Order: sequence, then C-alpha cells, then structure tokens
Amino acid sequence: MSENSYRMDTKCVQAGYTPGNGEPRQIPIIQSTTFKYNTSEDMGKLFDLEAAGYFYTRLQNPTNDYVAAKIAALEGGTAGMLTSSGQAANFFALFNICECGSHIVASSTIYGGTFNLISVTMAKMGITATFVSPDCTEEELNAAFQENTRAVFGETIANPALTVLDIEKFAKAAHAHGVPLIIDNTFPTPVNCRPIEWGADIVTHSTTKYMDGHGAAVGGAIVDSGNFDWMAHADKFPGLTTPDDSYHGIVYAEKFGQGGAFITKCTSQLMRDFGCIQSPQNAFILNLGLESLHVRMPKHVENGQAVAEFLQSHPKVKKVNYSGLPSDPYYAIAKKYMPNGGCGVVSFELEGGREAAEVFMSRLKLAAIETHVADARTCCLNPATSTHRQMNDEQLEAAGVPAGLVRMSCGLESKEDLIADLEQALR
Ligand SMILES: *Cc1c(COP(=O)(O)O)cnc(C)c1O
Repeated sequence: MSENSYRMDTKCVQAGYTPGNGEPRQIPIIQSTTFKYNTSEDMGKLFDLEAAGYFYTRLQNPTNDYVAAKIAALEGGTAGMLTSSGQAANFFALFNICECGSHIVASSTIYGGTFNLISVTMAKMGITATFVSPDCTEEELNAAFQENTRAVFGETIANPALTVLDIEKFAKAAHAHGVPLIIDNTFPTPVNCRPIEWGADIVTHSTTKYMDGHGAAVGGAIVDSGNFDWMAHADKFPGLTTPDDSYHGIVYAEKFGQGGAFITKCTSQLMRDFGCIQSPQNAFILNLGLESLHVRMPKHVENGQAVAEFLQSHPKVKKVNYSGLPSDPYYAIAKKYMPNGGCGVVSFELEGGREAAEVFMSRLKLAAIETHVADARTCCLNPATSTHRQMNDEQLEAAGVPAGLVRMSCGLESKEDLIADLEQALR
C-alpha cells in the first residue's frame, strides 16, 4: 500500500518516516550541519545533483525531509520542503518561478505579511502584482492577467479577513493563462481542505499555526502537486526548462520530471542562496504537532462554531465573521471546499467600536492578548491597536478591519468555559 493511499488520520501519525529494523521509532533529530563521505567523487555527485543525499544542512537535512514528506502526503502532492517560516515558504514558492520583470495576480485579502512581501519587497526586485478581490467575477479575474504573469496566489481562508477563496475559479483562470495557482492553506490545514484536489498546483503553509499547533516553533512548508506541466509553458518558466549554469547545465523539468522539478530547484537554488532552512529541532516539534492534527482540527472547529454562534446572538455584538455561520457570505463556498469546517478563528465587531474592544479584551481571563493564532490556547487581538496600528479609522474601514474588530483564535479548551469567559467580559 503506498503512503498516499492511507487515510488522513494514518498519514498524520505515520507518513514520511518508516524506520528500518532496529532504527528509532520516533523520527531522529539529525543535529548535524554536515555529512561525511568516503571519497571526493561521492561528494561531487551530490554537487552535480547526480546522486541524492545530504551534504550541508543549509540546503537539506534528513529530519526536515521526513516531515516535509509527511506534509506532502497530507496535501496529496509529489514533493515537499520545509522552510524557516511561512514568510519564507511564500517567498520561495513565488520566487522559484518569478524574476525581475515578472507579474503576479494575487487575492487582495491575503495575510498582511504576504501582502507586504509581494507589494513592497518583491516590487523592489522588479516583480509587480495586481490584487483582485477574492469575490471578483471570472471576467475581472481574467482582466488582471498580463503577458508577463507567472503565478496566481491566494489563501484558502484568509488571515485575518476570513474570506474563503473559490479555488476552482482561480485555478481555471491561472491554467487558462498557462501559469500555476499557489494556495496558502495555513488556516484549514490539509485535514479540512486539500487545494490540490480543486486544481491548485503549489500549496504553502505557515506551519507556525495549526500544524505545530502549540505555539512552539516558527516554520513553513511548500508542497508541489506535480500537476503543472512546465515544459508545455517552457517560455514562461526558463528557470525550470532551460539549463542551470550553477549546476553544470541541468534542466530541472527534464531531469527531475513534472513531480520533482519545482521542489528540487527550490532546494538546490533558493535554499542554497538564501538559506531559510528550518532547524531540525523545530522540524521535530512540528512533527509532534502533525501527529495529532487530525484530532485537534475538529475541536478547533467545534469551539470556533460555538463561539461564533454565541457572539452572533449577543446584543453587544454588532457583527460576526465565521464561514460556519449560515448568515456568513462565505457559508456556501466554505461548505463546498471544507465540508467538515474551516478553522477556529472567528472575528467580530462590538457595538462601541475601538474603546469597547479594548475594555472587553482586558476583561478576558482565558483568552490572552497575543500576536498569534491557531494554537492550543485561545487568544485574541484587536488589529487596530496592534498589527494595523499605523492606520487611521478610515483606512481601517477600507482594509476591512474596522477599529472595533476583534480576532479570536479558539483553542482546545472547553467551549463552555470559553463562552462563559466571553459572557463575563461582555458584561
Ligand atoms: C502567519 C501566516 C503567514 C506567515 O507565516 P510565519 O510562519 O509567521 O512566517 C503566512 N500566511 C498565513 C495565512 C499566515 O497565517
């Protein structure tokens, strides 16, 4: 039975690492920067990408590869890699196929860090972008493409806007223009949504969130579906389809095939040159989290749903955003892509705006004020006084984060205790 034919629960626990006779049952932490070889010729083959193996942990480490293989199996991809953070994962996924002069089409409600990466930092590299509403029509979406467009980017459930992306609509437009769709699947995780099944070509993660799930280790991951035919669009992706001079002229798409080219290039070029590797220690911690991901996600969803329903019925709450509520504009689309629910993050506005939000949050006992989401402990944040502090009330309104908005990430506590905490703080 191949690893990809197991069910989600089995993959969470066992995929990626199968010990041999007498080997450690838990994945070993290979805490070594380097690896020993008998001859220079053996080593040379690795440097020519003629043989698979490890030579320096800035590029690759066995512990990381066990965990990356598990995440690839969870997403239903052909290859995966870990990065030092979610930011690094999204940068690598884009920069692996974009260069100076390229253009990206991205959903406008993506995570602020990724928005900044694309609109400010990558712009300095000569890579431009057009942002479209996730709710745009097919015509509006198609109109965003240019001759130099090389990728489409969106988030399954956006952080913190909580919009849900119509993955099929974005995949169709990307493929009609001969470019891949990259989906950041951080919030639902593969337990609740597998974007590759809906046409995404590359999937990224901030593993810092639910995958680790304990607020213990920052990390990221990239998975390739193996479905995008680089050679069919060879002129658009010369980095994959023409010789790489830094590796004696190998052509990634030829040598490693459709299922291996993207991740091999990303590891051997971008990891080599930028070095955003995850530490093997953090990869081990991430794997501990993954072993219970399928058990934790339903509980996060259960708590998010209960909290959203409670808040919606409370007179001091003006508005609740949660795609599990039938009144939410994303309810139908969320049911299609995430029939078992999305995640435990809820956002809401209080009557009384910013001041009310500040007082309310200071009265919470279980939910701590934190710049974080998606771990075992419930936490909350008022974007207007923290992550979006530089904006005035008008700008906040335009960005879809009104001054009184509270983002609450429901953890794994008892939902009765969480609701009682909300109730006393609202009072
Ligand atoms: C947190 C987050 C990121 C960035 O990840 P880091 O691990 O903090 O670098 C990217 N995308 C989404 C959706 C996130 O929530």
